[in-house]
Amino acid sequence: MRGNGVRGNGLFGLLLAVSLPLGAASMFFEGARVIVDARRPPLENATFLVDNGRIVKIGKAGTLKAPAGARRIDLAGKTVIPALIDPHVHLGYQKGLSYAAANFTRENVIDQLNRDAYAGIAAVLSMGTDLGDFPFQIRAEQEAGKLGGALLFTAGRGMAAPNAGPGNAELKPSAYDLTTEDEARKAVREQVARKVAFIKVWVDDRNGAVKKTPPAIYRAIIDEAHKLHTRVVAHVYYLDDAKDLARAGADAFAHLVRDKEMDDESIALVQQHKILIMPNLGIAEARTHVDPAPWLDEPLFRDVTPAALVERIRAAYSGRTPASVEATQKTYRTMQRNVAKLVAAGANVGFGADSGAAPDYFHAFTTHRELQLMVEAGMTPAQALTAVTATSAAFLRLSDRGTLEAGKAADFVVLDGNPLADIAYTRKIYKVYLRGQEVNRTALRGAFQ
Ligand SMILES: [Zn+2]
Repeated sequence: MRGNGVRGNGLFGLLLAVSLPLGAASMFFEGARVIVDARRPPLENATFLVDNGRIVKIGKAGTLKAPAGARRIDLAGKTVIPALIDPHVHLGYQKGLSYAAANFTRENVIDQLNRDAYAGIAAVLSMGTDLGDFPFQIRAEQEAGKLGGALLFTAGRGMAAPNAGPGNAELKPSAYDLTTEDEARKAVREQVARKVAFIKVWVDDRNGAVKKTPPAIYRAIIDEAHKLHTRVVAHVYYLDDAKDLARAGADAFAHLVRDKEMDDESIALVQQHKILIMPNLGIAEARTHVDPAPWLDEPLFRDVTPAALVERIRAAYSGRTPASVEATQKTYRTMQRNVAKLVAAGANVGFGADSGAAPDYFHAFTTHRELQLMVEAGMTPAQALTAVTATSAAFLRLSDRGTLEAGKAADFVVLDGNPLADIAYTRKIYKVYLRGQEVNRTALRGAFQ
């Protein structure tokens, strides 16, 4: 099912095949600019018909007629985009002001999937820090149509050399501590048996604080995963590791190279091996400012973030000085230049906000901030939107998501303005529809704080 290359259309195809004739539940949307596929110009003044969770037809005004009984919904002046897909998050650890493994409960994970849905996010991939079995149960319930929220994909438990996994101490116990190639292969087999979407491996010494996962271990992980038709996402930091991971067959990098600017050889390697790169700019960027960020006052940020957390994030700026943020700014400029280089080379730049990877880097709004930062780093709004829709859908092998063509899932966000003109409009959300149903954002918001 989901993850091992054959997720697909089994369930949804079946639903489509047995769908009833159009009835009162069908919805006819009129008047919006629709970004059908972020790689192509939008349809201005479009109409589209949604029935049984699917886009049935889509075209310019006048080319389609509302069927008898369909509900007509006027979206004049609005812009519709495919719902966002964020393949790099760490769900479940933050709860209010607390950041701890003890917060990793079904209730807390579902709460965060609901915040994602509220913010127009259709699917997320929890990147290797999940505990226990319930994430797999949530996934099964969503597939059966019994549970809402953003669709949960999981990389299960990630792997690394002892203590060389996630950076945060609370996340560390979720990872396998591997010392031999046999252990590495066994860990991969265990995770694949649970039907994880990806295998996650960390290759980083955390600024010299830990002993990095050695090449023999990550090569065994990649080899075993590929034998079992499962792709591997590598956390990278250093340029030399990125080159070796590319040669070893890693399928995606969960971060940018951050110690140096990428050279021609590394760009050629990621191109040659078709590696998907998730920039993950947001966590680093948040540490580059001396003054509280203007987005702390944005409605979407405040809607999805617990109020006490908003205040602690604001308070974290006090005491910062230009000198104290100088090193983070230097690293961040390297990251921005690497995004620009990858885009200029036509590399496969994907998306991942890494929400939840560190305390107070909370979920949902961060996905939208990441889009803004990708544009500031040199991507066009259309390229950034492509990364978070079509490219991420392809990466998760969600063949019925990422664009709004006829036959695809009716997962879309109605915005108050055009994000192709200003990417900040992804945060001005009028309505969200997932699986053809309007997300009840008012009810969700009331339960968030
Ligand atoms: Zn991460």
